[in-house]
Amino acid sequence: MRGALGGSGVLLRRLREVMAAPVSPQERLDRLVVVIAGNLVAEVCSVYVLREDSSLELYATEGLNREAVHLTTMRAGEGLVGLIASEAEPLALSDAQSHPAFSYRPETGEEIYRSFLGVPILRGGAVMGVLVVQNRASRVYSEDEVESLQTTAMIMAEMIAAGGLKALSKPGATIGLDRPIHSIGTTLADGVGLGHAVLHEPRVAITNLIAEDPGREVQRLEAAIATMRLAIDELIERGDVAHTGEHRDVLETFRMFAHDQGWLRRMREVVMTGLTAEAAVERVQSDTRAKMLRQTDPYLRERLHDLDDLANRLLRTLVGKSNGVTREDLPENAILIARSMGPAALLDYDRRHLRGVVLEEGGPTSHIAIVARALNIPAVGEIANATALIQAGDAVIVDGQAGEVQIRPQPDVENAYKDKARLRARKQEQYRKLKTQAAVTKDGVEIQLQINAGLLVDMANLEETNASGVGLFRTELQFMVAQHMPTTAEQQALYDAVLKVANGRPVTFRTLDIGGDKVLPYMERLEEENPALGWRAIRIGLDRPRLLRAQVRALLRAGAGSDMKIMLPMVATVNEFLRARTLVRRELDMLERDGRPAPASLKLGVMVEVPSLLFELPEIAREADFLSIGTNDLMQFLFAADRENKRVSDRFDPLGIAGLRALRNIVEEAGKANCPVTVCGEMGGKPIETLALIALGYRSFSMSAASVGPVKAMLRALDAGKARQRLDAWMSSSDSAASLRPLLAALAAEMKVPV
Ligand code: PEP
Ligand code: MG
Repeated sequence: MRGALGGSGVLLRRLREVMAAPVSPQERLDRLVVVIAGNLVAEVCSVYVLREDSSLELYATEGLNREAVHLTTMRAGEGLVGLIASEAEPLALSDAQSHPAFSYRPETGEEIYRSFLGVPILRGGAVMGVLVVQNRASRVYSEDEVESLQTTAMIMAEMIAAGGLKALSKPGATIGLDRPIHSIGTTLADGVGLGHAVLHEPRVAITNLIAEDPGREVQRLEAAIATMRLAIDELIERGDVAHTGEHRDVLETFRMFAHDQGWLRRMREVVMTGLTAEAAVERVQSDTRAKMLRQTDPYLRERLHDLDDLANRLLRTLVGKSNGVTREDLPENAILIARSMGPAALLDYDRRHLRGVVLEEGGPTSHIAIVARALNIPAVGEIANATALIQAGDAVIVDGQAGEVQIRPQPDVENAYKDKARLRARKQEQYRKLKTQAAVTKDGVEIQLQINAGLLVDMANLEETNASGVGLFRTELQFMVAQHMPTTAEQQALYDAVLKVANGRPVTFRTLDIGGDKVLPYMERLEEENPALGWRAIRIGLDRPRLLRAQVRALLRAGAGSDMKIMLPMVATVNEFLRARTLVRRELDMLERDGRPAPASLKLGVMVEVPSLLFELPEIAREADFLSIGTNDLMQFLFAADRENKRVSDRFDPLGIAGLRALRNIVEEAGKANCPVTVCGEMGGKPIETLALIALGYRSFSMSAASVGPVKAMLRALDAGKARQRLDAWMSSSDSAASLRPLLAALAAEMKVPV
């Protein structure tokens, strides 16, 4: 057996000749397997290509029965070939038949071969097929041989991707490259969007795979590595880390990886096999991506992502900048595909052409999710390997409602989604018609509907929904999407603009709710065991009064001459509220002392979202000017079930007896103290939940803009008195059902209330 260096060089030269020969695709494949078998001194070399139906079809062979070509197929996961495809890892066996996954195919005649070496044909981490060599004798394949075969597989991957093999596929057995993929992720922003893929950071296209002069390629690789390191050093030393939207420690880790000897050695080794520098980077990147896809440990996956990023940087240096779509000339019906994306990057795109966003990362509380929701763009996160699986221009459907993505959908799937989108549009149209209708129940109970907002772009929804005001303005969003801590003047400018757009409708500003999952990129990050229960929101405000006072100052100045409403998040005791109130009053006094115009009136309210406050209800209702229930946090803390953890977040229904009693206590105590109360958590924007809340006695809600239509449609058909009677009866019965939801749904159906 030849050594990999010399052997691969010869092999690659031979492969290049075959690739350049003016022959049919089948002939080319047939010649390739002969060359590979000869070079690796193997009796057999076979290529299996992944088909659209996930099975692997024998496309060419040297050594097995030629009649089996295009006849033998392996189901996904079947046999050694199937195993390699599903694991995306090479497999070398000196006694293949004793492997538990071995499956015997009489038509191939492979029973006489003992040793087996197979490698996945990978492109961008996605498996496109399997390349196999076999030997009659029992033998151990060396690392160099595995390496050689992997390099060859990469060339084959490009051949498959270039479409050369498409012509060989039989009708109904198209190869996997263009196969439709249905991928399940998580909802970032609701809505359904159909369009064509635009890659946020397009893949660098590599055309030159095989090196003319391997020595020169090594130099090119070294030069690119040096350039990349320098760029990262500069990025960090420039000091404005926040400018890139990444945390400093992330960048430091990044720098560490740029010096990772193992990774660099891998690339050098691959260049030495005869590939160009860029092809070598991509080879190693493809392996990294394949590992990333199968890695379940989030920490390790993150590290693999770092390597992937570095590889992209190297590729850009080696091949030159990729010519991606510029922000301004986004094509119509664009679906943006990215590994991850900062909120500011999304705001840069022309939203009129954006139909959806697909991310490899991004949880529901990520900043990008917040911005996507604000812009009303359907978005789905956690789609594994999206940037490798989706090519620019591919048809993509983003189902933000279900948290799913359809890549290159079949016509029937596409039609089904078009219907779904049409249905949604029709419903939206009906909701729009309700815009001018009053929010009054069938039995004449007036309900106040407001919207939640957090960015200036949200404010357009006020006009669109005709809501009576903004019941929750999350001020932390400005801080979260900014590159640096907003100054008092910048804060005031936003509040001024918000009040201007509101044009007299009330806006309830919530003071900073940071900490926990809401991390500011430019603020030192605390390592806390339980961040949701940690140093956050009003706790930070009370411990760092300058921060809170600066914000209150900005709010009071912006509110000059108008009726201002401010509320405090995560208050756990009445005492905390009183301390914060003292601070607010001091700012108000200072404003008056300085002779600056003050708000015409100021109401200071409190979020009820920490269960301890439920045991000080009479006192808090007496002290605060209003209450606003943050059901998201209240239910998370009441049931000790993390709202971001899918395993437990839906485990307890707030429409169970415990949740409903807690909510009834609040509305009753607020009523006794004549203290206005609003529900501003997600619960208030879901029709069945809102029905229950109205039955409990709530009359004021603040919800995402998209919920206003469905909730109004529900309440206008509702007999609130009747709902109250029923709910009272159910709540006093001794039946300990986990949830009253089924009864409420049945009641809605009986009353013909749309929920
Ligand atoms: C809540 O907790 O219900 C709430 C409205 O606040 P946030 O979702 O911002 O925590
Ligand atoms: Mg909250």
